[in-house]
Amino acid sequence: MSTFKAPKGTYDLIPPNSARFLAVRDAISAPLRNSGYGYIETPGFESVELFARGVGESTDIVTKEMYTLTTKGGSELALRPEGTASVLRAALEANLHKAGNLPVKLWYSGSYYRYERPQKGRYRHFSQVGAEAIGAEDPALDAELIILADQAYRSLGLRNFRILLNSLGDKECRPAYRAALQDFLRGLDLDEETLRRAEINPLRVLDDKRADVQKQLVGAPLLEDHLCEACKAYHEEVRELITAAGVVFEDDPKLVRGLDYYTRTTFEFVHDGLGSQSAVGGGGRYDGLSEMIGGPALPSVGWALGVDRTVLALEAEGVELDLPATTSVFAVPMGEEARRLLFAKVTELRKVGIAADFCYGGKGLKSAMKSAHRSGARFTVVAGERDLAEGVVQLKDMESGEQTAVGVGEIIAELEARLG
Ligand code: AMP
Repeated sequence: MSTFKAPKGTYDLIPPNSARFLAVRDAISAPLRNSGYGYIETPGFESVELFARGVGESTDIVTKEMYTLTTKGGSELALRPEGTASVLRAALEANLHKAGNLPVKLWYSGSYYRYERPQKGRYRHFSQVGAEAIGAEDPALDAELIILADQAYRSLGLRNFRILLNSLGDKECRPAYRAALQDFLRGLDLDEETLRRAEINPLRVLDDKRADVQKQLVGAPLLEDHLCEACKAYHEEVRELITAAGVVFEDDPKLVRGLDYYTRTTFEFVHDGLGSQSAVGGGGRYDGLSEMIGGPALPSVGWALGVDRTVLALEAEGVELDLPATTSVFAVPMGEEARRLLFAKVTELRKVGIAADFCYGGKGLKSAMKSAHRSGARFTVVAGERDLAEGVVQLKDMESGEQTAVGVGEIIAELEARLG
C-alpha cells in the first residue's frame, strides 16, 4: 500500500467493477445517441460566477458544496458541481443556437464535484451522464427526455425505479404561489437558516428532508393549485405523451429539486433499494437559465443521471450485466521462438477484432495457465519448441478442456471461426 489514500468521499474505479461502470455509462447514453443528441465536453472547472448565477445563490450546491479556487492569475474558479450551466454556457459561446436548427440537442458524460457529507451513494466526486435540449418550448421534448431516461434504465435491466413528476410553473404563475407559500412558511416553527431560505427561495423548503420540517409542511399550499392555464395545459400534454409511450410515473406535487433554474416540468428518478440517497437521476425544464447567464431567451429542458447510483441500484436489484469478454484468447509461449510467433499472432488477432492477451514475464507453464484461467479467455493458445518444430500450436478450449493441434498458418482463421 502507498502512504496515500483516495481523498475522503471519493473512490477508485478498478477492474473488474469498473467494467460495469463503463457499461452503465454506455447504456445511459445509447438512447441519446440514437435520438439526435450530439456529444459535448466542457472543462472540469468554470468561473464561480457561472454557477452562482446559473445554479442559484441560495442553493446548497453554491453556498456549501462548491470546490472553489483562486488561480495564480486571480481568477475565481469552481470544479463543476453539475453539468447544465456549463453546457448552456458552451452552446451560447459557440452560437449553436444561431445555426437555425433548434432545439440544440446535446449529451455529455463526466465527473462532478460537490463538497457533501459522504455516505453510501453520496460522494464528493461522482459521475453523471446528462442531456440538454436547448431552445424549444415543446411538451414533446420534455416527454422525449423522460422516455429516453426510462428506456436507458430499462435497457440495463432496472425495474424498481419510480418516476416522480411535477410542474413548477413559470414566471406568470410562480410569483403568486411563491408569495402564498412564503406566508405559510412564516407561520411555522422553523430554525433561522430555514426561515432565511424561505425568504430567498421558499420552494426549496418543500424539499427539506428533515422529518420535523416535513411534518409542518403537511398543509402547505401546492403549486398544482396555482398553475396558470398555459402551464396546466403544457403539463397535461407532457403527462399524456409519456403515458402514451407506456412510461409509468407518479405525480409528486412537492417535488422541487435542489437547483434554482427549473421551471414547469420537473422530474426525478428514484430507486427504492438505495436508502436515503434514492435519487438516481433528475431534471426538468429551465426556460430562464439562458437569460440568467447573459444569453437570449432559450427555453430548454434536460436531465442528468448519476452513474454511481445507477450502479448501486443494479446491485440492489441483483441485476447482472451481460458484459463483453475482456479477453477471448490468451497466448502462452514456451521458449523464445514461441514468444516471437505468438506475440505476432496476438497482434494479428487484435487487428481482426478478437480480444487477445499474452502471457508476459516468461512464466512457467503452470503459472502461465493460471494466468490464462484468470484472464477469463475462452481459448488459450500454447506453443513450445516441439509444437513449432511440427508447425503447430495447441489450441485449448477453456470450457471443455479439450486441446487440439492447429497449423501455425491456420490458427487465426480457426479462432475466428470458433468465436463466431
Ligand atoms: P442533481 O444534479 O443533484 O439533480 O443530481 C443528478 C443525479 O446525480 C442524482 O440523481 C444522483 O444520481 C447524482 N448525484 C448527485 N449528487 C451526487 C453525489 N454527491 N454523489 C453521487 N451521485 C450524485
